Amino acid sequence: MENVTLVTGGSRGIGRAICLRLAADGFTVAIVYRADENAARQTADAVRQTGGRAEAIQADVGLAADRARLVEAVRSRFDRCDLLVNNAGAAPKQRLDVLQTTEESYDRVMAVNLKGPFFLTQQVAGWMIEQVRDDPQRRCRIVNIGSISAYTSSPSRGEYCLSKAGMRMMTLLFADRLAEYGIGVFEIQPGIIATDMTAGVKEKYDKLIADGLTPIQRWGQPDDVARAVSAVARGDFDFAPGQAFHVDGGFHMRRL
Ligand code: NDP
Repeated sequence: MENVTLVTGGSRGIGRAICLRLAADGFTVAIVYRADENAARQTADAVRQTGGRAEAIQADVGLAADRARLVEAVRSRFDRCDLLVNNAGAAPKQRLDVLQTTEESYDRVMAVNLKGPFFLTQQVAGWMIEQVRDDPQRRCRIVNIGSISAYTSSPSRGEYCLSKAGMRMMTLLFADRLAEYGIGVFEIQPGIIATDMTAGVKEKYDKLIADGLTPIQRWGQPDDVARAVSAVARGDFDFAPGQAFHVDGGFHMRRL
């Protein structure tokens, strides 16, 4: 049986690129989507066209019952999970100043970006521990897609920044706890990546990039992130647990 990966938000954007890369690396891919079945199907078809195996599974990572159903579905269909990629994420529906952030938006963004990934990881990690105990040769890994927003203040979407700052600690907590089982936990912090999520602020970011916001003066592409996930998934960074990789064209560097 091939290695199996569960990629949340695998239907579109960064998640789709991750699914295609990992399938090319030989993983069977469980593509998790929330609402856009068509996009999920297109990603699954694209994987199959390149000779890979993929299945789309609907689940809202923010809902406990959906998370339980998702893990059960992967267990019953594939009977293993070698790699969990916590990629699904949501931006606030409306950018509001931190003085006006609503509790509704806070709860929604935190549920999808932090609470959901935290409890999904808890559940999958428990299963990974079982798998490693059954077969000590097995190597399981977890990759979280964080953001430069973990350490960059954007007062018009504070709840998003909080969720990604929380994810940074989530990576450290699970990396620490799971190291004894040889389960590596890592994080990728993308910069400004061209997807549906950033489509609405394209002109703003076009200008910032042209004005030198990042040393590499271009938008990031979903595959820039997918390649980093692929390198981590290969095991190249297994002695670097908890590491957060900056895939951001150099945004993170202080410059003078
Ligand atoms: P997109 O909006 O393009 O895609 C989001 C994906 O997540 C879709 O597949 C969507 O599925 C899925 N999704 C959203 N909510 C849920 C949910 N509740 N349960 C399950 N799946 C869900 O986003 P990106 O590809 O741009 O972002 C992917 C990740 O990268 C996110 O975590 C984001 O925060 C992070 N990131 C993005 C950056 C960027 O510049 N784009 C920069 C830094 C980090 P569906 O369509 O079915 O809802």
